[in-house]
Amino acid sequence: LVARMRPYAETVFSKMSALARQHDAVNLGQGFPDTDGPEEVLQAARRAIAAGYNQYPPGQGVPALRSAIAEHQHDRYGIDLDPGTEVLVTSGATEAIASALLALLEPGDEVVTFEPYYDSYAAGISLAGGVQRCVPLTLPGPGFDRERLAAAFSERTKIVLLNTPHNPLGKVFTREELTVIADLAREHDAWVVSDEVYEHMTYDGAVHVPIATLPGMAERTLTIGSAGKTFSVTGWKVGWVSGPERLVTAVTTVKQYLTFATSSPLQHAVADALRLGPGILEELTSSLALRRDLLVEGLTAAGFEVSVPQGTYFVVADAAPLGVTDAVQWCLQLPERVGVVGVPVSVFCDSPDETASLVRFAFCKHQDKLHEACRRLAAMG
Ligand code: PMP
Ligand code: GLN
Repeated sequence: LVARMRPYAETVFSKMSALARQHDAVNLGQGFPDTDGPEEVLQAARRAIAAGYNQYPPGQGVPALRSAIAEHQHDRYGIDLDPGTEVLVTSGATEAIASALLALLEPGDEVVTFEPYYDSYAAGISLAGGVQRCVPLTLPGPGFDRERLAAAFSERTKIVLLNTPHNPLGKVFTREELTVIADLAREHDAWVVSDEVYEHMTYDGAVHVPIATLPGMAERTLTIGSAGKTFSVTGWKVGWVSGPERLVTAVTTVKQYLTFATSSPLQHAVADALRLGPGILEELTSSLALRRDLLVEGLTAAGFEVSVPQGTYFVVADAAPLGVTDAVQWCLQLPERVGVVGVPVSVFCDSPDETASLVRFAFCKHQDKLHEACRRLAAMG
């Protein structure tokens, strides 16, 4: 394995899901729903296979899906996109992120990210020969320090890689915060790659604002979405990236040689799913909001200090009140000792000290599982 990939040998999610299977533990680690997506969406996939959409589709994505994505961005956010040139379908958001980084970074170029950050960012930047500059998001709140963000920019800054709603903190960036980020990106003539895979998972009235909707930002922003997250079908691995033609063309060039194209029948199914309208998404979100509340309550009762997330699938809980100082070790023992899996937040960080006692638990799971996990944690002693 090349040196630049050695630190990323196995993802924390694979490791934790393997431990969950080994110890038959309640898996609140990896963020995937333990129920299927809506029946209409599954039906659409069966229909697409029966209709014969089973050979290579166009590399850029099937026209029906590119149009549905453009319509979604227009209807929801007022973003105008030409589906012919400004939308690319990818094999999950993961491929969109990696191919954007590979398409835009020269060796030594810098990428500004907040930390904690989603694990594929560091690996993707490294794969592309880039250098990551991290700015901490601080709990509680969580917010960021404008001066620290400004100091992370340099002449080599090529990309700001943003994630809102944020995994793992559940933070939904406000318009004011996004304006600070946008101003710095424009000042330094940087591209923004905005990972918005949890765009539909916001709670308590928090509003998701795509940074591409801020003045002057559409022309420098690539926006990333994921059908896996949106429709609770994470195994389908259908994602997309949209933005100005020049950037989308660059990403398309790379994607051609990674996967060439993305699953044809599933693209047709996602096109149908996006056209089902907002009702189906609202149902998924309100069901998730209930489970968020359940997990927040259960973890609090078990003695954790919990910050209530405004978005995503995840709750971050501080285990310090339980005497935990090293959440990495604690999470490795938890499946066998208690029968529960969580993910230490410090694995999403370059400077892990500030987050050493934080654990991320996923709530996109059956209510029974959430109850059982909380019961086990409360009984842990
Ligand atoms: N970005 C973030 C922030 C994520 O949490 C995930 C995991 N779902 C992804 C990207 C990857 O999405 P996909 O499964 O569509 O590749
Ligand atoms: N995004 C999911 C999470 O944060 C994991 C996806 C994966 O396993 N790569 O848990």
